[in-house]
Amino acid sequence: MAANKTLTMIKPDAVRNGHIGAILNQITEAGFQISAMKLTQLSLADAEAFYSVHKERPFFGELVEFMTSGPIVAAILEKDNAVEDFRTLIGSTNPAEAAEGTIRARFATSIGENAVHGSDSDENAQIEGDFHFAGREQF
Ligand code: ATP
Ligand code: MG
Repeated sequence: MAANKTLTMIKPDAVRNGHIGAILNQITEAGFQISAMKLTQLSLADAEAFYSVHKERPFFGELVEFMTSGPIVAAILEKDNAVEDFRTLIGSTNPAEAAEGTIRARFATSIGENAVHGSDSDENAQIEGDFHFAGREQF
């Protein structure tokens, strides 16, 4: 059976702070395979579309501003139980509540600037993977 997929973004804070290599290393050490990857920068329209589920939330403007503030690394990751296992690996949204050793505990600076994104369902993993990558970029 094919492995499950999830979509991650290494967010602008972690890219700016030089953590791309350490985060990718933690991801691959945890057993995820990278099946698509790029360095890119979201436009305002991209970020608003990607996070449209949060458009009524008070932090939406801040979130869009942050996510467009610099380059990100987008990647599709494969592993059995990818969505749930990846959210365990990254830890809670708020790094102050993230379990020790998780990616957010190690690299996030605040609830807004929290180093990485992880899909929240198999359905959204597919939608988010297709948002970032053409078919010929997915291996
Ligand atoms: P992500 O979707 O980026 O993986 P998440 O699923 O842990 O994060 P969501 O509830 O989907 O959390 O929120 C999306 C993003 O919005 C968060 O990662 C964070 O960057 C930002 N965010 C969430 N809550 C707040 C808040 N209270 N204040 C500021 N920013 C927030
Ligand atoms: Mg989310």
